[in-house]
Amino acid sequence: MERPYESNESGASRRTDGLLRSLMLSLFVAGIVAIGAVWTLESRLGLLDGLCRVAYPTMLAVFVASAAMLYRWPRTIMIARWAGFLSVIGLLVIQLVAAVQGNGPLVGNYAFISLLMWLPLAYAIAMLMLETRHGPWAACALFALIAAVSIARMLRFASGEASDTALLVNLLASHLVLLACLSGLVKFKLALVKADARSNHLFKQASTDPLTGLANRRYGLEMLRRAALEPADENSSAIIVCDIDHFKAINDLNGHDVGDQVLLTVAALLQKCTRSLDTVIRWGGDEFLIVVPRIGRPALAELAERLRARVAAAGLRDDDERAISPSLSIGVAARSENETLDDWIKRADEALYRAKADGRNRCVFAPGAWLSGCSPQLLLDAD
Ligand code: GH3
Ligand code: MG
Repeated sequence: MERPYESNESGASRRTDGLLRSLMLSLFVAGIVAIGAVWTLESRLGLLDGLCRVAYPTMLAVFVASAAMLYRWPRTIMIARWAGFLSVIGLLVIQLVAAVQGNGPLVGNYAFISLLMWLPLAYAIAMLMLETRHGPWAACALFALIAAVSIARMLRFASGEASDTALLVNLLASHLVLLACLSGLVKFKLALVKADARSNHLFKQASTDPLTGLANRRYGLEMLRRAALEPADENSSAIIVCDIDHFKAINDLNGHDVGDQVLLTVAALLQKCTRSLDTVIRWGGDEFLIVVPRIGRPALAELAERLRARVAAAGLRDDDERAISPSLSIGVAARSENETLDDWIKRADEALYRAKADGRNRCVFAPGAWLSGCSPQLLLDAD
């Protein structure tokens, strides 16, 4: 599982995908109900024409298959999106071309009037279902097609029914207004997504350490405050403070860049050896603090020892192939009842100083009854 401050994908895009999926599912269900109702009614009243006899069952099949696919496999959203979009647009455009090319009057023509009611749906679907940046273009292309066939009809019957021409002009005018409204909504949505992505980026910058990519002290303090709210029992939260031994000497002997590489290596090992719910923080300089929520005491002692052993075993070489052997001194403090956050951190720090004073490359556990249950070997370093 990814730690929150490591997230690469913007929260905005994840939320947008979720919203889009539920929107599409509800559109498919609404489409199935609408087509079913219109189909039943038109066949009862004898209004079903040849095209709809084929189109209705085809669209029903496409909608049911797309909805089922999207429900079962959310990642097929792209296929379902295109299937839904093309089937609706295809039917509407074919109906429009057939109606406008016919010779009879449009006013009073049931097929044409019902088509007029459904046609605006094509823009909404184009904007909502396609990728945001493609939607307005698809809607404009659709409008251009509708305008072309309408104008062709007006020219063909220029001296014919005035009410038909008025109907087509109304159709184009209302569609233009609708397009403008929907494009405004899409722009509004884009601005929101951008703002969300930006705030996500700023949050990441404000909460991570630029060198190691670990949580920084500010974010870490927030995690510590949360951990301090947990009850102090046999599974209470704990703090593990790690400091690289003789890091100044590593810097002095090998240069600052190699020192940075050591910091990166240690940071990566600490991340790798901890659970996803633990927060590894670059506490400052060569010091790391790990917030370990809700952990059994033996598991905590084993975790601290594992961290020490993994860093001690990490063989590093500088550019001249000289061996660099970093090690960690570690102080561990499980949360005690009624202790303030400052006191908790102070106890972990004191355990760390003790590890340094006792010769480094070791774990020291802050005193407390919690140690009962740890393996004897791990208790060697304890008070
Ligand atoms: P000890 O075993 O007692 O911890 O000795 P130490 O030499 O590690 O002493 P200390 O922890 O006080 O040294 C921290 C050093 O870390 C001092 C500073 O120059 C160095 N340092 C702090 N931040 C960075 C950094 O980002 N990169 C590098 N390369 N060095 C850093
Ligand atoms: Mg140090």
